[in-house]
Amino acid sequence: MRLVLIGAPAAGKGTQARKLVEYYKLAYISTGDMLREEVSKGTELGNQAKSIMASGGLVPDELIIAIVQERIKQDDCKSGFILDGFPRTEVQAEKLEEMVHIDKAIYINAPDELMLQRITARETCPKCGASYNKISLPSKVAGICDVCQEGLIQRKDDTLEAGKARLKTFHDQSEPLVEYYKKKGILFEVDGTGQLEDITKAIIQELGALA
Ligand SMILES: [Zn+2]
Repeated sequence: MRLVLIGAPAAGKGTQARKLVEYYKLAYISTGDMLREEVSKGTELGNQAKSIMASGGLVPDELIIAIVQERIKQDDCKSGFILDGFPRTEVQAEKLEEMVHIDKAIYINAPDELMLQRITARETCPKCGASYNKISLPSKVAGICDVCQEGLIQRKDDTLEAGKARLKTFHDQSEPLVEYYKKKGILFEVDGTGQLEDITKAIIQELGALA
């Protein structure tokens, strides 16, 4: 099963992706995580992506398409995968279509105000990568990682200003994606304002027949 996840920043794509990966034994491909890894390693690609991501913009199509193309060739993708963060534009979706057949595009839909609230409440551990949310998933001790006791930080792209820019980018560039997959007849839209477990259940119910 090959899936695409669409949703504004903080719509809960990562959380849902992890649940689905576990349930269906799929490879999890987060282009955001892959890019952040490149940034932290200081590779040429990472440096290119760094300034763009910090300002809330999108990494150029050619760059991200090349990364995904390499990634889906790997062995763990043979029995299926879930893409989180790609495609983000219609051009990217068309390129993906040329690479591989996609079974379902899942769109997690939620209002902007909720997204901004969640984005600015996010905290990340710079040491082990664990992520928290002051509203929905707080660490046991405020500001401290449960796993490794490191001090938590706010990612540069999780500030209010960057959050607003990311939402605008999403509306401008990614909403046509929703239309694109709707026309293909493989879009499943789910309400992203509900409980995490209910959203997961709704998705699994829809995908059941594909498994
Ligand atoms: Zn940690």
